[in-house]
Amino acid sequence: MLHEKFSYVREKCINGKTYWRCTQYTTQIKCHGRVHTLRGKIVHSSKHNHQPCGQGRTAHLASFSCTRKKKRKLVIDKHEFVMDRKLKSSINWRCSRYRSSNCKVRATTHVLKNGQEVYRLKYAKHSHL
Ligand SMILES: [Zn+2]
Ligand SMILES: [Zn+2]
Repeated sequence: MLHEKFSYVREKCINGKTYWRCTQYTTQIKCHGRVHTLRGKIVHSSKHNHQPCGQGRTAHLASFSCTRKKKRKLVIDKHEFVMDRKLKSSINWRCSRYRSSNCKVRATTHVLKNGQEVYRLKYAKHSHL
């Protein structure tokens, strides 16, 4: 399960409540981040001792899909981004729901020397599902 960019594994299930622990628990990090869910809703969460995946300096490979008008769309975690501005060496994108949901999430992509296209996220929290 993925929640707020942290990934969890199911630990146990008691009285309909599911207990999840961070996948970094078994690594050297020994993270004690946990969430409890009840009928699909988060009812409890505790802090992690590390950065969530998808943040920091790591760049991630970008994936794209096409709009009906044959324009490229950037896809990150099932969210779609439309092209905002094309710069010399990079492209700025914004969440396709920026208008309908007033979402402020943005991303930039650029092409590496090896030809791979990578993205970086800014304001990683969407205002919608
Ligand atoms: Zn953790
Ligand atoms: Zn969004």
